[in-house]
Amino acid sequence: MSKVATPFVRNTASIGGNIILAQKYPFPSDIATILLGVASTVRLQVYSKTLEVTLEEFLELPPSDPSTLLLSIFIPHWASDSQKESKVIFETYRAAPRPLGNAVSYINSAMLGHVSQKSCGDLVLSNLHMAFGAYGTEHAIRATKVEQHLNGKVLTPSVVLEAVRLLRETIVPMKGTSHPEYRVSVAVGFLFSFLSPFAKGIKGPGNTLSISSASSSNTDDPCNLPLSSRRETISSDDHKPVGEPIKKGGSICR
Ligand SMILES: Cc1cc2nc3c(=O)[nH]c(=O)nc-3n(C[C@H](O)[C@H](O)[C@H](O)COP(=O)(O)OP(=O)(O)OC[C@H]3O[C@@H](n4cnc5c(N)ncnc54)[C@H](O)[C@@H]3O)c2cc1C
Repeated sequence: MSKVATPFVRNTASIGGNIILAQKYPFPSDIATILLGVASTVRLQVYSKTLEVTLEEFLELPPSDPSTLLLSIFIPHWASDSQKESKVIFETYRAAPRPLGNAVSYINSAMLGHVSQKSCGDLVLSNLHMAFGAYGTEHAIRATKVEQHLNGKVLTPSVVLEAVRLLRETIVPMKGTSHPEYRVSVAVGFLFSFLSPFAKGIKGPGNTLSISSASSSNTDDPCNLPLSSRRETISSDDHKPVGEPIKKGGSICR
């Protein structure tokens, strides 16, 4: 959240205003994605009635009218379970033309879950919540097919490749969105960054798993994976001179 906009905007704007904008318009909110990722619920007042719905349900509803008042946002407590020896993991991601706020995201994501160790030593994830937003979508969404696919499984290369395939099916930027392929590839990068510490036979970023090589070869054996190289250029000249460092008039020494 400290990367949203600027300190001035953060100190002035409200989370409620942000969520309402995200509900009414295809506003590329970072806050809505983070709150969706932690399974938040919202309490609303519509005329004299109050109701409580999940943020996911609220975002799906038709655009709210001025009679809808957002009263509160509730974030459930996610605790590590000492009996099941599971730990809570939570990561947020944001890709934007400039890294530190004040630039609308190309895509953002929030991922949460429990990680536990099986008796054989393999790690498994459960209770996954994977939210993605701002990629040219009406509102932030949960990648439920990816969550269901990964829950309770050991993360072998073939399991991860299937998750990537499901994610590519889920993240479909609306017609007219700029850089659609880039946004989808960043979503895959986010997923991979989140999963790689828990995966079996997959090293972290710069690893030997080739996403595009989801062919018929036995990818469960890392020895069968071909080497792949990859390069991402984050900055470009698209918005020049926006983003270029400039001298401030008041600081020039005379
Ligand atoms: C320069 C700039 C950069 C920004 N960058 C980002 C960014 O990187 N990521 C990001 O997520 N956001 C970003 N924002 C959005 C910002 O974080 C605020 O969410 C947004 O400006 C709304 O501000 P506000 O709280 O003043 O809302 P308002 O303008 O007060 O409210 C927005 C709308 O919601 C309604 N509303 C407000 N509160 C409630 C309520 N409780 N119940 C019902 N209706 C309500 C208002 O009536 C209005 O219609 C940026 C904004 C600016 C100006």
